[in-house]
Amino acid sequence: MAKGILLVADGLGDRPIESLGGKTPLEVAKIPNIDKLAAEGENGLLDTIGVGVRAGSDTAHISLLGYDPYKYYTGRGPFEAAGIGMDVIEGDVAFRCNFSTVDENMVILDRRAGRITTGTDQLAKAMAGLKCDDMEIIFKESVAHRGALIIRGKNLGANITDTDPHHEKAKVLVCKPIDPNDEASARTAKAVNFFVQKSYEILKDHPVNLERIEKGLNPANVILPRGGGVGPSMENFEKKYGIKGACVSETGLINGVAKYVGMTIVDTPEATGGYDTNCIAMAKNIIKALEDHDFVLSNVKAADVAGHDNNPNGKIDMLRKIDAMIKYLMENVSKDTYIIFTADHSTPCELMDHSGDPVAVCIWGKDVRVDDVKEFTERACAKGGLCRINGQNLLPILTNLMFVQDKFGA
Ligand code: ZN
Ligand code: ZN
Repeated sequence: MAKGILLVADGLGDRPIESLGGKTPLEVAKIPNIDKLAAEGENGLLDTIGVGVRAGSDTAHISLLGYDPYKYYTGRGPFEAAGIGMDVIEGDVAFRCNFSTVDENMVILDRRAGRITTGTDQLAKAMAGLKCDDMEIIFKESVAHRGALIIRGKNLGANITDTDPHHEKAKVLVCKPIDPNDEASARTAKAVNFFVQKSYEILKDHPVNLERIEKGLNPANVILPRGGGVGPSMENFEKKYGIKGACVSETGLINGVAKYVGMTIVDTPEATGGYDTNCIAMAKNIIKALEDHDFVLSNVKAADVAGHDNNPNGKIDMLRKIDAMIKYLMENVSKDTYIIFTADHSTPCELMDHSGDPVAVCIWGKDVRVDDVKEFTERACAKGGLCRINGQNLLPILTNLMFVQDKFGA
């Protein structure tokens, strides 16, 4: 069977930049292998969610995998929790969390608990097995001061207020349903308040924290959930397309989206999510994953970091790394493998945030209708044979080329 790779350079799209002589980073970077991919492939522009829509990375990837983000995206929590390996099931309410430091009056002294890096696994263990009425409470630590929380039970809602006041010297807020008549959300709010209170009671004298206090470090003596969402019911990727998918990515959020639809998560220890990441190690993992999967989604993060940092040269440097990655992929994939290269959104350097500008897209592989585009840039791809497509069109285009789709009609 044919194979497919969807390689996403996070936030790659850009606008003309004054310091680059009115060119975009893609137009300045020397990327002979990506240009070769474009010259041998079919190109176009892509609106990941919709024309002019400013996409987040999570919503964009939901759309790139062919799911409607307006239908399935209920907040960051469920995907964040899935991304750290928690099994979120339909109807759960999931949150992202911070370990923080509070005083005895629940006033926040440090939102990130001294950027704690060790011992959070032991703190999480101490929080195991909690229940509030009939609701199960499941917490897991993530990297540094982060974690995720699942509240599991019947009839839960997520239209609730935050407990995290988002600044220090303020008191931890009481979680409330936004609509006082919303019973499902009131139930969730009760469990959240219970969890926050219990976290303080259990963690304030925990040995990990007593040791931190002794060392002059801020204790991680409370856990604050935010960004709650009800776990959506999304069709399994393999069932939807008839192909088995894996994800080789650098961030928990992208892994979370992939895990949520049942894809295999492949970890690359050398992938840091920063400028120093190892794209070749990721490419090797993609090739390896294709041995027992039909499709791999891969996301390289740092082009987006460069956009947020207003660092055009950082974006250009990342492009060189991605160019080497694409060279490796082109040289090592089997003959019947398709490579799609694109971005999940633009992160224009001068804007330092995501924009709704469409991104360049290229599809390379056997029997694609090669067009006249010779280089992979936003402006050159605008003249390509794919014209302007939507993120949700990508998987149908790919599964058609792979010839794994059922025919619609007689
Ligand atoms: Zn992104
Ligand atoms: Zn971003």
